[in-house]
Parts: sequence; structure tokens; C-alpha cells
Amino acid sequence: MSFASDCKEELCKIENKRACCLKAECYGLLLFSKCFSLRDAQMICENSAVARRITEAAAVSAGVYAEMRAQLHRKNAGAYAIAIPGEDARRQMVTSFGHTGREISLRIRMENLLKDCCTAAFLRGVFLVCGTVTDPQKEYHLEFVTPYLHLAEDLVAVLQGVKAAQFSPSVARRKNSYIVYLKESGAIEDFLTLIGAVNGAMELMQIKMYKETYNNLNRVSNCETANLDKTFSAASRQIAAIALISDKVGLDELPEDLREAALLRLHNPEMSLREMSERLSISRSGVNHRLRRILEYAETLGSPEEEISAQHEKGKE
Ligand SMILES: [Zn+2]
Repeated sequence: MSFASDCKEELCKIENKRACCLKAECYGLLLFSKCFSLRDAQMICENSAVARRITEAAAVSAGVYAEMRAQLHRKNAGAYAIAIPGEDARRQMVTSFGHTGREISLRIRMENLLKDCCTAAFLRGVFLVCGTVTDPQKEYHLEFVTPYLHLAEDLVAVLQGVKAAQFSPSVARRKNSYIVYLKESGAIEDFLTLIGAVNGAMELMQIKMYKETYNNLNRVSNCETANLDKTFSAASRQIAAIALISDKVGLDELPEDLREAALLRLHNPEMSLREMSERLSISRSGVNHRLRRILEYAETLGSPEEEISAQHEKGKE
């Protein structure tokens, strides 16, 4: 079972305790179902629990019988076709929600969802009939599909009007449909919670936490590798400088504090500044300061190449 169908199964088990919410959910289910018209139309529903919920909605809210036929055709095998037989029955359904069926464009009639509780129930109905959510393991994406632009725009307004959460849905066109979608994991989690898919929301949250922890661990280990490289290149420069000092003037020429740091570095090329500060019982910036003075001192002695060519010159004399 997919993440989306798990969420839908969970939602189909919810009982609407208030009459206002029951009606609002039925409105969402029917309005976005492709059957909400005086014309004889049918919709294909892949989820049997959702298909049953739609037929129940027609019966409960409008006293109308909705036909549900299992599809045997290869293309839709396992899905159900839903239709409302009889124009009178279809008129009864649309008028019970304040529609005439003769509207130029289908829109959400806001008087069917006056209370906040009803908005959540309505959105549950809409999600069940035309929504889907991608497995959060893959990506964060929740969408609704409708062939009607105004219905898509009204749905955006309903989502933006939700007081319990902050939704910023986007609209896109796909073939002959309009897609209203949420992309942000927090918004998807809030939406699933709002409509009652609490287990779905929790699963999404856990996956998100797991992903974040995993990414953080990865970032830390990448960072440590980078730091290690830095330590190594800094250490090799320091060792070159110490070797130069040793060759040219001898380490005994160094002041006591610098000689101590130089010997420690020479014998421990991989040692970090932190470990050196512990060994020398001085602060890290103290270690850094000593190592910098060693580098500066070596610079005053010139590079090893100069030394070699200088000796060469000497040999000629
Ligand atoms: Zn209500």
C-alpha cells in the first residue's frame, strides 16, 4: 500500500460527529468528484474505501443513490466507476448544496462551510476524492487535481483561510487539469493533521526527522574530512619550516616555547591544534601563535632552494 492510500484508509475511518461537518465533508467529496453536474457523468475511483465514502455522501447529504461499479477493463482494473443515475437525482444533489447546476463555472459555495470545524471536514472530502500525497521518502508533495480553474482558485482561498495552519498553496496546469499543491513538509504535515490523517502526519514527521539526522551526520563527517585536510596541509607547512630552521641554524636557536611546540609538531604531524594545546597546557590560540612565529622565523631564513644555491655559490669560491 502506498503512503497516500494509507492516509486515505485512515481518513475513511473517521466518523463526523457533528451534522455540519458531515455535510461539509460530503460537499467536498461530491463537488470535486466529476459527478457534480446535471449531466450524466461518471468518475473513476481507484480506492474502494473512498468510492464507498462518495456513495454514502450522496445518500446521507442529498438522499441520492450513487451507483458504484467495479471496473474489470484492463486499464482501470480494481477501480470503481461512480455515477448518479437520473437527472432528477442529480438536480436534487446539486440543489441540496445551494447550486443550480446551470452555473457557468463551478465554484465553492462558502455557505456550506461556515465554521472552522467544517473547513477541515470539507478539505478531507476534497483530498479523498481528488487529492494525493507522495511518499515522503521520495519527496514532499501533496496535490489536488480538478478540471475547473475557478474551483482550483477557490480551493486555494479555502486553504489560505485555514486558521489553524499557514498554507501557501500553488497552482499549476497539467494537460486539461489544474493542480493545487503544497510542497513544504511542515505544511503537508499540518494539512494531514488538520483533516484527521494523524498517523500519516506522524509517519511523515518521523521520516523527516530521520532524513535530517542522516543529513546532519553526513555534513559533520564531510566537515571533519575537510578539517583533517586543512590540518594536514597546515602541518606539512609547519614541518617544512621546522626542518628548515633545524638545517640552517638548529632548533636550539629557537626560544624555549617555540622549540617545545616545534618538537611536538615534528614528532606528531597529524596532531590537531586542540591536542597540541592539551599537551602544551596552553590555549589553542597560544599554540597557533607559536606555530605562526615558527613559520615567520623560517621565512627570515629564506627557502631551502636558496640555501642549496647559496651553498653551491660557496663551493665555487
Ligand atoms: Zn462543522
